[in-house]
Amino acid sequence: MDNDILKVLYSQEQISEACHRLGKQIQQEYQGKFPVVIGVLKGATFFMTDIVRAADTYMQIDFIDVSSYHGGTESSGDVELITDINTDVSGRDVVIVEDIVDTGQTLKFLLDTLKARGASTIKVCSLLDKPARRTVDAHADYIGFEVPNEFVVGYGLDYDEKYRNLPYIGVLKPEIYTNN
Ligand code: 5GP
Repeated sequence: MDNDILKVLYSQEQISEACHRLGKQIQQEYQGKFPVVIGVLKGATFFMTDIVRAADTYMQIDFIDVSSYHGGTESSGDVELITDINTDVSGRDVVIVEDIVDTGQTLKFLLDTLKARGASTIKVCSLLDKPARRTVDAHADYIGFEVPNEFVVGYGLDYDEKYRNLPYIGVLKPEIYTNN
């Protein structure tokens, strides 16, 4: 897999430091509360498990699966709910945990959905932010790293369901997706 990576953007150590920093921010903000922390499948799985373990405070965890990609590198813009959470978020403090905010469409869909269900507060923690690509007004409150306008993989992020298990985040060689 390493041979398919053009350059490493963030090492395993840098990711681990970012998770610790974000987990502690969440710990401080939600001390004495009982938020529901919702990880967005599948890209945010590793990030989710790392930040919640860095936050020494009571919390409920849940997962939601939404899709806007259909195997390629461009979002279709149509966000589809694939598997819903099991938690009633009405009156709850919610933290959404995302892998990356790109166009912002997925995040906007999640914010609209959870607001409509009566969540009392919603904050967003995203491992990566790619602001150059934003098409809708949606932003994360806690961000691991800002990334350039390049297609990245690893530490949960995939291309065509591959590379999620890379321990670092890197830019995929363009020939990998242009040849397909
Ligand atoms: P958005 O709706 O913000 O355009 O995109 C959100 C989803 O698209 C992310 O949760 C992620 O799964 C996928 N995505 C966006 N940019 C990238 C990228 O650079 N690499 C990978 N692997 N997925 C991305």
